[in-house]
Order: sequence, then structure tokens, then C-alpha cells
Amino acid sequence: MLGQMMTAPLLISSLIDHAARYHGDTHIHSVNTGGGEETVSWRSVSRNAKRLASALAALGLEPQTRCGTIAWNNRRHLEIYFGVSGGGYVCHTINPRLFPEQLVYIINHARDEVLFIDSTFVPLVASIRDQLVTLKHIVLLETDARAAQETLPEVIAYDDLIGQGDPEYAWPQFDELTASSLCYTSGTTGNPKGVLFSHRSTVLHSFACNLADSIGFSAMDVVLPVVPMFHVNAWGSPYACAMVGARLVLPGPGLDGPSLVELIDRHQVTIALGVPTIWLGLLGEAVKAGSTLPSLEKTVVGGSACPPSMIEAFRERHGVETIHAWGMTEMSPIGTVNQPLAKHLDLELDALHRLRENQGRPPWGVELAVADDQGRFLPHDGKTQGELLVRGHFILDAYFRSTREETLQDGWFNTGDVATLDADGYLTIRDRSKDIIKSGGEWISSVELENIAIAHPDLADAAVIGVQHPKWDERPVLVAVSAGTIPPSIGKVLEIYDGKIAKWQIPDTVVFTEALPRNATGKVLKRDLRDTFQNILMQ
Ligand code: ADP
Repeated sequence: MLGQMMTAPLLISSLIDHAARYHGDTHIHSVNTGGGEETVSWRSVSRNAKRLASALAALGLEPQTRCGTIAWNNRRHLEIYFGVSGGGYVCHTINPRLFPEQLVYIINHARDEVLFIDSTFVPLVASIRDQLVTLKHIVLLETDARAAQETLPEVIAYDDLIGQGDPEYAWPQFDELTASSLCYTSGTTGNPKGVLFSHRSTVLHSFACNLADSIGFSAMDVVLPVVPMFHVNAWGSPYACAMVGARLVLPGPGLDGPSLVELIDRHQVTIALGVPTIWLGLLGEAVKAGSTLPSLEKTVVGGSACPPSMIEAFRERHGVETIHAWGMTEMSPIGTVNQPLAKHLDLELDALHRLRENQGRPPWGVELAVADDQGRFLPHDGKTQGELLVRGHFILDAYFRSTREETLQDGWFNTGDVATLDADGYLTIRDRSKDIIKSGGEWISSVELENIAIAHPDLADAAVIGVQHPKWDERPVLVAVSAGTIPPSIGKVLEIYDGKIAKWQIPDTVVFTEALPRNATGKVLKRDLRDTFQNILMQ
């Protein structure tokens, strides 16, 4: 033998051990579900996570038992992330915004035996309890469970459960390929599909998140994950923040603009993460509240395309850098992050701003390709669009309780997105393949049309769909929410496209609606809009 390095498996418990050991005093501020706030530390989170793991072992749980959570971003949820996975069980975060029948489906499909719930969700769980066939224990994330026991008699209080646990519990050691956590995609077509993460993929994803040219959390940061912990593990931020010992601000149930502005200013938040719709509310509120968000350095925006007007508003009004990121549940979720390269330092400011609008480049651990519908690879020239394929260290191999053959295409995962890649790997998402508008043999990107429309001062929200057309097969229609009580004229709205895109790409008309329908992760339900407006150009 020529000598070797130590082998220690890449386990999630090592992340919380590190945070407790070297950042033990660093604060975590957590908004309580019932109001008020508490401040704890990485050390106390670690001790409670160990208490929880040992209490679950005492309940007799088998390794890999699935433990569901239906909870807001708060410190008990954070302890569950580390306690359940660190203990060798699978932390299955569940999105409460799914329909009750989808919740029943995924809890039964995952075979959850334990369910941790916030008090907000007691009525929801009580209404489906008799259909949850594998469930043995329900734990309320509170000190006292008596009120909840009126509707869910079996429920026990989290604080009572961990009160019996050992704060010095020695984390079990096992293979790093062991499953650690489970998320279901929102399933706009068919049943939701389970994505099972491993300890190894989670730790590697945390490294990729923390690279300087990626999101790059640091011990100097105060991080506000507005993206829910039930939405792809808050984009992996709890793990990545433990790895570097960042300070966390967990916003609880209050995700409205005023609450977020108050939290950012009071805790001097430096990085906040969330989907574009959340920031629309926050930006408006910051102006009203007279706050310039002085502490905020960066926002990480993903989940849907971030409109350039939002990037500009953050930059011009608040001096905040927007990091546009793209990903999917199937990718843990980070696939690309928009950061410039050294060669861009010489760019004119306008050109640099334009560069920062696309979805960015892959960090280490992700490889991207575009292919035509026959699976033939297409050039990375920034122009040729095709189906976006991905593979890498933290990308799905097979859906939970499915097979590789059913999940992959020649070893690649097909994202369902249509995109271009340039020679440096910058990705521009043109559309979901099912949403792209096919007009007389040409493809029109609904994302591009939406990005322009959302900048219109008279519109509060906008989506573009393809609807049937007697001559062109499909034409774009803008579905808009008016910012004021009297909607602007169609002509006035469509003027915003003048000179920005080719004339034939401009939507044929505008229809106004009260609010856009959105799915459980905040994405616009374009299928519903198409169903409603499909004949609008046929009359
Ligand atoms: P998540 O749960 O993280 O939202 P999903 O798996 O539900 O992920 O959805 C992933 C899809 O969301 C992507 O395939 C893409 O269509 C869309 N998406 C995510 N981020 C962006 C982005 N920055 N720009 C455009 N689309 C995005």
C-alpha cells in the first residue's frame, strides 16, 4: 500500500456536528407558529436533534423508516431535518398546499410511520387521518398537545418526545448512500413522484451550494430561507448553512411582504432565498414601509423564471444583487446559478446586467446537455434550443419505488424544459416543453413574453399561454392581473412589446383575471388557463 486517507462516510450528522462544534454559539432566530419568536443556537439544535434521534430509536423505529413533516420553517423543523436523517431514518417533507387526496397518496406511498406537524395543520391531518394506513405516531411541534388532542387524540407533543431523549446520543454510522430524505414533486400531471435523496448527495449538494461562484453561504451571513422547508428542503439551505455555520432566520408561517421586510431589517439578513412571487410582494412592501433593505446583499431567486424587471428593482432600489438560479426537485435542487466569469469584468454595465438575467451556469456536480426530440445532442451555441438533459452527483437516478429505466433516458434525466446553452454553460430556459407556444411552425417562449409583461406598471401579475388558432395552430395570449381596479386597455398593455420582440411573437390579445391559478409550489397552472381560454381566438 502506498498510503491512504481516512474514510468517513458523508453523513448529514457530520454537518450538524460541525455546526455545533465550531459555530455552537451562532444564533438561529425562529418565528413561532402561534406568534412570537425564539432565539436558539446551532449547539441547542444539535442537542435536540440527538434527543430526537434517540427518542425515535426508543420508539423502536427500523432504520430507513419514513418520518413525514408538515411544518413551516422553524427551529423544531430544523431539528427534525438533522435528528431524523442523522438517526438513520428518512425525513419526508410534505407540502401542505397539495390537495388532501394528494397528501393521502404520498403519505401512503412513502409509508410514513411518524408524522410531525405544526399546529396550523391539525385540522388538515384530522380530516384525512383515517386514510393514513401506515401512520403510527403523530407529533405536534409544540410544548403542549392538549388542544390538538381534541381532534387528534393520539397526538403527542414534540417537547415531551424529545424530553425523553439523550442530548449526547452518538450518531449511528452507516453507508453514505443510505437514503436521508424524501420529497414528492407537485405532480401537475398524474400522481406526485417521490425523489429520494441520500446522505452523500445531500452533503455533495451542500458543497456545490457553498462554492464561491455558486450561492456561497458563509459564517458571516445571516440567511433567510423564505422558500419553505417543505419545498425541496428549502433548496438545501439548512444543510449548506450548517456546513458553514451561517446564522439562520426562520420565518415561520408569515411569508407576507410586511413580515419579511420586518424580519430582514431587524435581523440584518444578508441573503434571502425565495420564488419570484414572494419577492413581488416584498419589493412593494419595502417601498411602502420606507425600507431600503440596507443589510440585504443578495437574493437567490428560482423556482420560476425571475423577470429582469425584478432583478433591476432589487439592484436599483435596494443595491441588492439577485442570483438567478434554476433547478428541480430531481436535482436536490440546484442545477445552475447565475454568476459572472472573470472575462465579463470588462463588459459594459448594460451587457453585464443582461448576462445576469439568464439561469446561469452549473456548479461542480452538474452536467447539462440539450438534445432534439430524437435524443441527438445539439450545439452549445446560445441559440439552438432543445430538451434540457442533466446528470451528476446529486441528480435523481430513479424515482422512489420506480426503476432507472423508467426514469432516465440513456443515463440522462430529461428535465422537461426547453433551453439553450452557450459555450460557457450559461443556460436560458425558454419554457417547459408543454408550455412552449407552437405558432405556424415557429416556437415562441412564453417565459420571454411574461418577463416583458410583468414590467408593465399597470399589471400586478402575468402569464402567457398558447391557445388554439384557426390559421397558426396556436397563438400567444396574455392572461393578466390588473394592478388597479380599472384594467388598462389591451392596446396599452401590448405596447410594452414594441421594439422588444419580433412583431409575430406579440400576444394576439390580453384577458384579465382576478388572480393566476398556482400549484402547491407557486408555479402558474398554465393547463388550467389553457382550459379556460382555449377557444378565445376561435370565435
Ligand atoms: P421546484 O420544486 O424546485 O420548484 P420542480 O421540480 O417543482 O422544482 O420544478 C422544476 C421546474 O421549475 C424546472 O424544470 C423549470 O421548469 C422551473 N424552474 C425552476 N427554476 C426556474 C428558473 N429560474 N427559471 C425558469 N424556470 C425555472
